[in-house]
Amino acid sequence: MKHLFRNFIASLRRSTAILSTKYTTGGNKIVDNDPIVDIENPFEKEKPQCILCKTKIVPNYKNVQLLSQFQSPYTGRIYGRHITGLCKYQQEKVEKEIVKAQSAGLMATYLKDPQFFKDPKLFDPEKPLRPHQF
Ligand SMILES: [Zn+2]
Repeated sequence: MKHLFRNFIASLRRSTAILSTKYTTGGNKIVDNDPIVDIENPFEKEKPQCILCKTKIVPNYKNVQLLSQFQSPYTGRIYGRHITGLCKYQQEKVEKEIVKAQSAGLMATYLKDPQFFKDPKLFDPEKPLRPHQF
């Protein structure tokens, strides 16, 4: 008789333990106190993205001001990928659009248009992301 009573108490405790994890507050909203298991890894590193992919800017030959930021102000040369840090796809796209703009007569070839000299500099060619080839 005594152990029956003890079993009953134990089962009651178990049921209240289950109750304590899921209870209702006010209305019918169920509040779950169980730890959240299937969340994204908060320590996962951010995927490295180039500046054009991050801002979702599509280079276009008509946007000469943007393209001129990838050009050296002294020689008009297009900065390499080791300076711009662009991904291969975007670098090729920028180079293609610059050539297109130059052949359309919108953009200078051997110098940067002086009206874009005061534009914010996206990269420092003196401090490339990867060392220069030369
Ligand atoms: Zn990219």
